[in-house]
Amino acid sequence: MKQSAIVALVAGGAGFIGSHLCRALLDRGFEVICLDNLQTARQINLVSLEGARGFTFIHADIVDPLPDSVTRRRDIGRIYNLACAASPPQYQADPEHTMLTSVVGTDRLLRLAEQTRARFLLTSTSEVYGDPEAHPQREEYRGWVNCTGPRACYDEGKRAAEAIAFDFGRLGRADVRVARIFNTYGPNMHPDDGRVISNLLCQALSGEDITIYGDGSQTRSFCFVSDMVDGLMQLMEADGIELAPVNLGNPEEFTILQLLERVVAQTRSTSRVSYKSLPIDDPRRRRPDIGRARDLLGWTPRVSLEEGLRITCDFFATELRSGGDDIRRLGGDNRQIAAE
Ligand code: UDP
Repeated sequence: MKQSAIVALVAGGAGFIGSHLCRALLDRGFEVICLDNLQTARQINLVSLEGARGFTFIHADIVDPLPDSVTRRRDIGRIYNLACAASPPQYQADPEHTMLTSVVGTDRLLRLAEQTRARFLLTSTSEVYGDPEAHPQREEYRGWVNCTGPRACYDEGKRAAEAIAFDFGRLGRADVRVARIFNTYGPNMHPDDGRVISNLLCQALSGEDITIYGDGSQTRSFCFVSDMVDGLMQLMEADGIELAPVNLGNPEEFTILQLLERVVAQTRSTSRVSYKSLPIDDPRRRRPDIGRARDLLGWTPRVSLEEGLRITCDFFATELRSGGDDIRRLGGDNRQIAAE
């Protein structure tokens, strides 16, 4: 899939998945413009990219008008929109900004795609299915979402972003692709991200109490980041595909307690388990049906949870040992809004 000098704009390129995507694009010969407001991104994610040939970083927020250095360019061939805080405690910290990032930010990037004739890929989310009644979730399922709850700023924002993207696509204003990303993990996650894999691994590694929300019977399906990045790039590069959302995720489903067992086995932790109340609107189960991605792209995840946890555990262990200023105060308040 070697491409030469196609310019790819990655909004949210300093974030967890974005930084891996920028690296993969550079490795495949794309020129990369990374746009990020550094709200939840880690500076450290950029360190290995800055200085790389063909990489440019622009500090900007897609809620604001796009900088001239971007809008002036006519040579952008790909626009990936990964810009949005994605972890519940982080997207709930400034819910208005979260909603505007999805709605206003996506609209700005779509207009840029229209001007430049670039292909446009929106990273949407499994959150559009809410607390799903259908299981596993297929793209046709329209979701069971609470538009007045604390997750609404994210999931309703992404649903609105999909709506705008599909309108641009239907009207021929842009060549649009929409990926619905399911829980993804791996190196470069922020230790203070607040999501279950980073929390459990960091707590286990540092001997702090491991927090399980609810009774741990809720399920998730965890996709390793390299599989996700492959899926995103394949979706972007596929020619002549129909305008339709595509689930990307690993269909292997685990309860949070099963994840806990694997984390404890991996880290040999002696941490105690501390049960906390379940966050409001926390989905009971989640598992992608990836039949469409398989049929359209021939894509399927390759990295097992065991292998992915080992790699991610090594990453956090190194981070915790190095004790950089990026390391969170473990046990600090990175919780989402909990049910009473
Ligand atoms: N969770 C947990 N302990 C934590 C963080 C999360 O038990 O320290 C639970 C959370 O309530 C949810 C699941 O793990 O049921 C996945 O949460 P995460 O925030 O990673 O992602 P979500 O899929 O909810 O967006």
